[in-house]
Amino acid sequence: MADILVIEDDQRIRELVCRHLASDGYGVTSEGTGLDGLRALTANPPDALVLDLGLPDLDGLDLLKMVRSVVDLPVLVLTAREDEATILAAFDGGADDYVVKPISGPQLSARISALLRRGKADNGDVLAVGGLEIRLGPREAELDGRLLELTAKEFDVLAYLAARPGQVVPKDDLHAAVWRAPAGTEGRTVDVHLSTIRKKLGEKPDDERRYLHTVIGAGVRLVDPGA
Ligand code: CA
Repeated sequence: MADILVIEDDQRIRELVCRHLASDGYGVTSEGTGLDGLRALTANPPDALVLDLGLPDLDGLDLLKMVRSVVDLPVLVLTAREDEATILAAFDGGADDYVVKPISGPQLSARISALLRRGKADNGDVLAVGGLEIRLGPREAELDGRLLELTAKEFDVLAYLAARPGQVVPKDDLHAAVWRAPAGTEGRTVDVHLSTIRKKLGEKPDDERRYLHTVIGAGVRLVDPGA
């Protein structure tokens, strides 16, 4: 279960929030000041942060910016401030959700769980074609469990094709998407990259079972050789 850090100086609210999240199965830690919160956050990064803006030592909006510069995690601002300028400043500073106190325990849990779900979808996108697995977050590609050493452009080409399995992709489309260059300027660039990708996949253009297929005059497609 996910770990949540609660930064809130009001002891009564802090205990209420912590007790509720813990009863929902979250691992919960809490701090009563901005600096202690920041210290806890960097020492042991949680999966999400509940942040009060009215803190005794630091302005919550400044703290939010500091948090954003050191860790990437969902932040729910839970505060008594409900003026529009503060709300907009919080989102501008990197808040993922903004809630005005008081909030019910079940609503808080529902919001936290939605934030955690969203975070996972962003970082966990994986494209799979046969034994080829492409993880978009960390930009890693694996073939049958073996990590491929690809250059940035090779990775982009492979990811673009893997997002369209079985589909013939014209080389100038590929060039436009990966190199962000106008059609007709691709020259040999795409071919050269396809050839190095093919080598790294350990296949030859005339292998019967292979991932990369060049379709003369039309483009290239990536298929699951086992299908
Ligand atoms: Ca407060």
